[in-house]
Amino acid sequence: MPHDISIVLRPDEAANETAVVRAIARKIDIPTDSIRHYYITRKSIDARKGKVLVNLGVRVFIGEEKIIDERPVFNYTDVRNAMPVIIVGAGPAGLFAALRLIELGFKPIVIERGKSVSYRKRDIAMLNREHQLNPDSNYAFGEGGAGTFSDGKLYTRSKKRGDYRRILQALVDHGADPAILYEAHPHIGTNRLPGIITRIRETILQHGGEVLFSSRVTEIILDSGQAVGVYLADGQRINGKAVILATGHSARDIYHMLHNQSIALEAKPFAMGVRVEHPQALIDAIQYHGIPRSEYLPAAAYSLVHQVEGRGVYSFCMCPGGFIVPAATGTDEVVVNGMSPSNRNSRWANSGIVVEIRLDDLADYAQHGIFAGLEFQAEFERLAKQHGGYGVQAPAQRLVDFVEGRFSSNLPACSYHPGLNSSEMHLWLPEHIGFRLREGFKAFGKKMKGFLTNDAVILGVESRTSSPIRIPRDPETLQHIQVKGLFPSGEGAGYAGGIVSSALDGSIVADAVSRYVS
Ligand code: FAD
Repeated sequence: MPHDISIVLRPDEAANETAVVRAIARKIDIPTDSIRHYYITRKSIDARKGKVLVNLGVRVFIGEEKIIDERPVFNYTDVRNAMPVIIVGAGPAGLFAALRLIELGFKPIVIERGKSVSYRKRDIAMLNREHQLNPDSNYAFGEGGAGTFSDGKLYTRSKKRGDYRRILQALVDHGADPAILYEAHPHIGTNRLPGIITRIRETILQHGGEVLFSSRVTEIILDSGQAVGVYLADGQRINGKAVILATGHSARDIYHMLHNQSIALEAKPFAMGVRVEHPQALIDAIQYHGIPRSEYLPAAAYSLVHQVEGRGVYSFCMCPGGFIVPAATGTDEVVVNGMSPSNRNSRWANSGIVVEIRLDDLADYAQHGIFAGLEFQAEFERLAKQHGGYGVQAPAQRLVDFVEGRFSSNLPACSYHPGLNSSEMHLWLPEHIGFRLREGFKAFGKKMKGFLTNDAVILGVESRTSSPIRIPRDPETLQHIQVKGLFPSGEGAGYAGGIVSSALDGSIVADAVSRYVS
């Protein structure tokens, strides 16, 4: 039986194999040469109590002990002539549904409105350089979905649903660093994600699946209340035994399409706010207690939450060493989000700071029915466009100026490439959000001394945190509550949030499709 042990090391020791082996031997009380093999099962940084240490979980094989390889294996079959299943959307939910369907012996036909990663990169460069947005190819739409040009954080709270390890292993098999298998807060980075996504597509194609780009779905084809295919914008009809709808939460046209087809939707709570950016050196100094960050430590992160008058105010999608990016999908809106490269080496630390929005906060939008939340988001995205100066520039304000209700006569350097426009955001953000943000920032300044500083800047608006609409499904069959053969999945369906939980959801939906058609 292997030994599962924990060791605590200094950051430089944890990066040194000889030091790790010595620590293992000391812990089990054996000579170093008795260690046949070991691998790390968990790595986390403990920066509490004024020190910075690394906790390692290690599985050790001693003497003649048999080395057991417990990595999940994938049995992809040839599905060229198998039963076709349509997947709308090539984000994490859609791609992982496709991989799972191939294992289960079905032929996935993945239909994506955007372009393949390499062409999508050019559109994103155009957006940042020339400020021209392609509504079908941007930070949210295109191969890999919203997760491709992101931080690639792989943390999820829903580890029980589906098999978290299988998702991580599949990412490693397609080129991710194996360290994601044991790090407490794994991330991939925007420089590595496109290659991984491309290799996932290659796996789908090699095994006989299909992937169609620049193909926007405009209608679900129903036959006796059952989904049997889709129409594309160019009028093409594609048939399948089932339809997995994994279009993400930015595809507002999909919600309208379903509503027009009398397919039920539900309003749900969501969150909205701003993105804050600090110098990374400041966040490092706070989190690492002023101890200079050595090459052995990652750029420091934070996670903050505070309750203000019955609503949570919290940090969302924190990107250490990252960049703020223009994440809008329409030309009449400004939306911000964050990403970072694998080594998280930019000079900035950014995070969404958002306020929980419940349905009773939307009384003024009641005339929009189930679209109330969506209209609320859209209105403040349009306001952000206006206050940003009607381009791709974002409205911005120094943090203390926002909290104290003052115009910022100048703004600090910021990672947001398209540029900033100084705006009195305290005046135009909805009061129930603005007030809670101000109180939240004050509380965060007490939890992290130095956080509330005018060296930080806020940008608006961070509106695409989660979907304001759910596409309801039966909890057992995972089919839409009214339409047989229609499987809403991922973040846009309201059943996931983030890369891994969307991938997990795609995977469990593929299992449900297999039960439905078998
Ligand atoms: P999506 O990824 O949104 O994919 C949906 C796909 O469907 C898109 O490719 C879209 O083009 C396509 N589509 C939409 N409509 C149609 C149509 N009509 N026809 C055909 N195709 C259509 N999450 C994390 O966990 N960690 C992070 O670090 C992180 N960083 C992020 C950074 C940024 C800049 C952004 C924008 C998001 C980030 N997220 C992050 C969120 C994460 O990307 C999403 O939660 C996740 O991608 C949702 O997966 P999904 O498959 O459900 O939907």
